[in-house]
Amino acid sequence: MATTAQLQRSAASLTVLGSPPQQRLLRVLPEFYEALYAALGPQDWWPARTPFEVIVGAILAQSTAWGNVERAVSRLRQARLLTPRGIEHMPLGKLARLVRPSGYFRQKAKKLKAFVRFLRREFGGSLARMFRTPTAQLRRMLLGVHGIGPETADSILLYAGNHPIFVVDAYTRRILLRHGLVDAQAGYEEIRRLFEQSLPRDPRLYNEYHALLVHVGKTWCRPRVARCDECPLGPFLEPRT
Ligand code: SF4
Repeated sequence: MATTAQLQRSAASLTVLGSPPQQRLLRVLPEFYEALYAALGPQDWWPARTPFEVIVGAILAQSTAWGNVERAVSRLRQARLLTPRGIEHMPLGKLARLVRPSGYFRQKAKKLKAFVRFLRREFGGSLARMFRTPTAQLRRMLLGVHGIGPETADSILLYAGNHPIFVVDAYTRRILLRHGLVDAQAGYEEIRRLFEQSLPRDPRLYNEYHALLVHVGKTWCRPRVARCDECPLGPFLEPRT
């Protein structure tokens, strides 16, 4: 993983890029990471036993709480169907019943089916072959699969495949917005590129950073209330004039 010195060099090399607000963002993102890692330590995320379980979890995690995903994944595991072949050959109705705890279960069952069909068609069913594909090419391919949007594709690439792609989610966006680092119109790709431009290209660093932001979003930076006095990112708030 990147060291403090690497993070500082990365931040220093960015001072010539972008407009002044963007320069501030690029400088402050490595500092956020340092502060969060010092306060919270490693997060050991994503909690899954295999890369395929990460992929299933990433698809089931859309629009639901993580506890619901865990229950659905556990039902697939208990049925011994948590494999690409198991999901491909299972009737759609049975798959939908098994993943019911994750919500939107009929749509999510179709998405899981679409992914395993894609995996077989393009890579002979081999995740190892899939993840040997260059990052940008595989990202484009994943985005072409029914039900896989940017956050799901990037979670698959980073957490299951160890590709250097930063995952942007609602927690990330809320934290940056509240610190005045992006505006409400900032798109997914814009925020992702800002992280990737300001940090060394290191999947383990991206993994840890995203998990730390999730921790902040769940613990202090809640949708309705921000408990800034207790949050490790409190010192980074601009003083109000
Ligand atoms: S809780 Fe406050 S200090 Fe923490 S990330 Fe949110 S806005 Fe920043």
